Amino acid sequence: MKSTLAILLVVATGAVTACSTGHVARLPTYKLEALRAEALRGLPPEETGTFRASDLVEVTTLDPTILLDVRYATRDNFLHWPVYSEARVFLQRPAAEAVVRAHKALQPQGYGLLLFDGYRPWYVTRIFWDAVPPEQRDFVANPDQGSKHNRGCAVDLTLYVLATGREVEMPSGYDDFSERAHPDYGGGTAAQREARDLLRRTMEAQGFTVDDIEWWHFDCRDWQQYRIENVAFKDVAARQR
Ligand SMILES: [Zn+2]
Repeated sequence: MKSTLAILLVVATGAVTACSTGHVARLPTYKLEALRAEALRGLPPEETGTFRASDLVEVTTLDPTILLDVRYATRDNFLHWPVYSEARVFLQRPAAEAVVRAHKALQPQGYGLLLFDGYRPWYVTRIFWDAVPPEQRDFVANPDQGSKHNRGCAVDLTLYVLATGREVEMPSGYDDFSERAHPDYGGGTAAQREARDLLRRTMEAQGFTVDDIEWWHFDCRDWQQYRIENVAFKDVAARQR
C-alpha cells in the first residue's frame, strides 16, 4: 500500500487524522468474485534475467510459536471480503528463517511476532488493483510490475505479548493508510512508538528494510533475486510435500 491513498482520503474526507480502510468503496460480493475469476485468467508480467529457484516455506512450520492474523483470509480488510481462501503465511526460506531469528531475539524481552501477510499470489495483487477505483490506485501495487509480496520477499507483521498472546498497540493499526502508519510518525503514545521502533530495530538486525509509509511492512534483502509467482497457497503447500 502506498501513501497516495492517505492523501486522497484526506482530500476526499477533509479528515486530518486517521483515515480507515473503510473509505475504499465497498464492492458487492458478486463483483469481487467476478474480479477473482478474471484475475485467475490473467498472467503475471514476463521477467527476464536470472532468478533463484523459489523455496517458499510456511513460516509457522519453522516455529509454531509465531502467531498469525491473516486478515485477507477474513472480512476484516479493506475489501471486506476474504481474498485468501486460507490463513497461511509463506516466505522464501532465507526470509522465513530471518523472521524466526527476529522472533527468537524478541523473546527475552517478552515479545513474539504476529504475522499478517507474506507471499501473495500475483492474481491477488490483480484483484486489489481492479477492486480499487482508478483515482485511488496508487495505494495498491500495479500488477504489471508485481510486488515484493508476489516474490515471497515481503512480510507484514507486528509484536504480541508472549505472556498473554495479545497484539501490542502500535501508533496505528495494520492497513491504516494515514500518516500514523509512517515508521517515523511522531504521534501516538511513547509506549506505542517504542514498540514500533523495537519491531523495526529487530527486523533491521536480520537484514529487513521497513517500508517508508507502513511500519508493519518489511522487505527482505535479495528480493530482486526471486520471480513474481502466481501459485495459490494450497499449491505451494502441495509443492512442499
Ligand atoms: Zn506489505
